[in-house]
Amino acid sequence: MEPRTNIPPPPPDECVRQLNTTISWHVWRSEIFRVLLSTLQRRKGEGGSNLIHITAKSCALFLYRLRQQGLRSETLTAEWLRSWGLLAQNKSPSYRYRIPATLEYLRRYAVDVAYVTQQGSTESQSTYKRRLYDTMHYMCRAATEPKVTRITNLWPQTTWPTVWKNLGEAPVPGATKATWYKVIHDTLPTNVRFFRIRMVLTDTCRKCDRTDRRRHRLTECGKGEQIWTWTKQRLAWILRTIPERIHSCWLLRPHFTLWPPKR
Ligand SMILES: [Zn+2]
Repeated sequence: MEPRTNIPPPPPDECVRQLNTTISWHVWRSEIFRVLLSTLQRRKGEGGSNLIHITAKSCALFLYRLRQQGLRSETLTAEWLRSWGLLAQNKSPSYRYRIPATLEYLRRYAVDVAYVTQQGSTESQSTYKRRLYDTMHYMCRAATEPKVTRITNLWPQTTWPTVWKNLGEAPVPGATKATWYKVIHDTLPTNVRFFRIRMVLTDTCRKCDRTDRRRHRLTECGKGEQIWTWTKQRLAWILRTIPERIHSCWLLRPHFTLWPPKR
């Protein structure tokens, strides 16, 4: 008897939904404008934050565990996997119908494992597990989402890997990074937005009387203007030019590489 593998993934939709609701609550608490979970589930270098994708993780664990059982000698699973040729790379998922319908989980294994190259002889367990998860994640995403996120579509010229790397390595507190993350994904809860959904009476800023847009929050309100002027001067100094030559958009959408890299 090997009961642990007898329930094949994917997990029931209701379980995934409940887990995602809990995760979302922990990440965002009372935030109203949130970055989508599907965005957070991307890798750090792709604008996400490596958040777990429940279905992909569950499928990857299933594949990994079944394969580990298959590699042990004299287990029933090992015999089955060997007799249906599932321990070697098999590129034809239709082969699964030779497996009895009562062994649904082995059929599922036959389909999924065909997309993953076998573990290399020098590949560590953790790299192999990561590869299983990445493949399952890619398959889940391909089934449900467009491949390019909105933010990437809006500014296709931006070198996004550099932006995400800079954000990750910037020498600022985590809370500041979180704010910048929201700014870049354009989910900052400004009064213009609240006004549009009738949560406030006016779209003007609470501190001054100007319209409370994203740019106002960043560069115009409070100490914003001073901070950006200072930044412009420093940048001009680094680039050995005058502040007038530094365009404002350079500060808001930087392609610069931070140096030295974080250790
Ligand atoms: Zn203001």
